[in-house]
Parts: sequence; C-alpha cells; structure tokens
Amino acid sequence: MSTNVSLSQYSFNDYRSLDNETLNGRIRLAKETLGSKLLILGHHYQQDEVIEHADLRGDSLELSRMAAERDCEFIVFCGVHFMAETADIVSNRPERLRERDNQRVTVVLPDMAAGCSMADMAAIDQVENAWADLGDVIDTSEITPVTYINSAASLKAFCGRHGGIVCTSSNAPKILEWAFAKSKRVLFFPDQHLGRNTALKMGITNEQMPVWDPYADEFGGTSAEALKNSRVILWKGHCSVHQMFRPEHVAAFRANHSDIQILVHPECPQDVNDIADLSGSTGYIIRTVKAAKPGTKWAIGTELHLVNRLKKEHPEQEIHFLSPVLCMCSTMYRIDLAHLCWSLENLVAGTPVNVIEVNAEIAKHSLEALERMLEIT
Ligand code: SF4
Repeated sequence: MSTNVSLSQYSFNDYRSLDNETLNGRIRLAKETLGSKLLILGHHYQQDEVIEHADLRGDSLELSRMAAERDCEFIVFCGVHFMAETADIVSNRPERLRERDNQRVTVVLPDMAAGCSMADMAAIDQVENAWADLGDVIDTSEITPVTYINSAASLKAFCGRHGGIVCTSSNAPKILEWAFAKSKRVLFFPDQHLGRNTALKMGITNEQMPVWDPYADEFGGTSAEALKNSRVILWKGHCSVHQMFRPEHVAAFRANHSDIQILVHPECPQDVNDIADLSGSTGYIIRTVKAAKPGTKWAIGTELHLVNRLKKEHPEQEIHFLSPVLCMCSTMYRIDLAHLCWSLENLVAGTPVNVIEVNAEIAKHSLEALERMLEIT
C-alpha cells in the first residue's frame, strides 16, 4: 500500500545535520518552485516548526476533505500513515480522477515511521479472524462494523465490504445511531474508549459492551454469553497519548485551581471522561476554547502540541495541560523539518519519496465506508 516509486535524487542522510534556518530556507524555496502544484497539510498535533509550513491545518478528516477539493498534483501530509492513506483515497476517487484525465494526486508522508499506535492495534487479519469467530456465536448479519477514522485503509475497506461505516470523534454518536437503526449490534474498532464513551451517553451499559482482545485464546477473552447479550463489541485498542490522562490529574487541578474546567478528548478512558466538565473531538476542543470568555481556566486532556498552541493563541485564557507527564504523539513528532525538506526537494527533482498509494480494491471499499459516513454527517 505504500511505495517508494522511484530512486530518490537526494538521500535523507544529507539532511540530518542541517540546522533549522537552512532547512526553513530550503523548504520555502521548494514550496515556491512547486507553487500551486503543492499542498502541505498539517495535523493539529504536529509540532509548530512544521505547522508553520502547512497550507492547511486541521484534523485528519477535515484535511482530507479540503485536499479532495483542491486542484494540486502533490499532497505532503504532515500527519501519520492512516491520514495520508485517507487523503490518497479521497483525492484519487473515481470522479476526481475522471475530472483530471486520470492524473493521480501524489500523496507523500515525509517519514514512513510516522504511524499511529492505535491504528496498529487492529490488524486486518485480526479483524477478519474476530469476525469469523463472532460468527460461531452470533449472527454477523446482525452486526455493523464501525471503524474509527484512525485505522488502516484495510479496516475501512472491511467496513465497506460488510455494510459498515467509518466514524470520527465528532460524529461517533450519529454514526452509532445510524448503525443501531439497521442492526442489533456494533463491532467498534480500534479505539475502545471512543466506542465506550459514546455508547454510554446513548444509554448502553458497560455490561452490554464486552471487550474483544485479539490476543485472547477464546471468544476474544470474553464469553459466548457476553457476546450474545452485547450491543457494542469493543476492540481492545487505545491511543497511547490519551490513555495517559488519569482521574487523579483531574482531582489535582480541581483541588488547586478554583473554577477550572476540565476539557478532554473522548479517546481518554471512561474514568476521566465521566468526571470531566466537557468532552469532545479536537475540533470541539478548539472551538470551545475559542468561544470562551477571557479569564476562563482550562485543564485540557489531549495531545501536548495542540494544548501548547491553544495556550499561545489564547493568552487571554488560563490554559493548563491536564497531565503532569508529557503526552505527545511521538509518531507524528517524527515528521520534522529535515524530513519535510527532504520530501519536498525530491518532489522538485521529480523523484517522489514515501508515496502512499492505497491498493485500488482496498481504496474502492474504503471509499464506500467513508462515503456512508459523509452522507449522514
Ligand atoms: S494521538 Fe493517538 S490516535 Fe492520534 S495519531 Fe497519535 S497515537 Fe494515533
């Protein structure tokens, strides 16, 4: 699914020792040379020095949506692997290809090691095996598979093939409502916390949400009875960043700061979500802080770079990071100025590196699941 399509003109080793000033100058020059052919996308969790070169900033779906509407030849996605896959799928969907006389948009991920630990917790073979095992206990035609957008394209394609759908952290409630209107149960992967926190708000109980452990010997570590009584079968996956926030961090802020509001992402565990004042997607967190009165006090439980940027952009508010330990997306952090410069200069030289091109069959079925989501949200 990911290919280095040609030998690169420049070796990454030559970029390692360059200082930031040199890299910034060369990045600006490459951007100027490529002009409107190039679109650089920067995810909200990306470090500031990279974000400064981004043409658009947003969450993964926003960025792919915006990219899909732009006329460009190259997308350099400063995010993680599954985001670049989604950008490739939507930018090169059949109607866009027809409009461009079959000229594909080349999507580049500056560092192939920029993966997502959550996405890696659900491999397609594991999901296929789970589906087969579930079929021994319950009727899989009664199950709608729902994958969080933070997943590999192969999982989105699985959902596409099985009448399922993709969700984001902002539309998860709507997507679950849609799934329950057509089926008795949902298999939700890869993030158990988003699935649980969303379903609890809909009145589904923890007893109705067994957790499927792909490494367990039998029934995903749960029981046939629990599966028969289930409404949502949660995949045992999590975000290593949001998993770090703990109820004691909430308690410490409340003890030491009067009138503080705790604002968290639904990828945080249930025990944190339940006691937070507000919980919502990255977009919701940004909008909530933007709309607050000067002097509002926040302790925010989401990725460190985003919280630091909010602090910088809203000096009129008092913003704290909810955890005493640094919770940052270390895989996204792998994309630095050196990788950005290297990938851009190779585009200028006509030797793209780290090209993400999703297999046509997988892209087709992924698009089915993505389009179902876009239709209802
Ligand atoms: S913050 Fe978590 S879910 Fe988001 S890309 Fe990083 S590891 Fe994946």
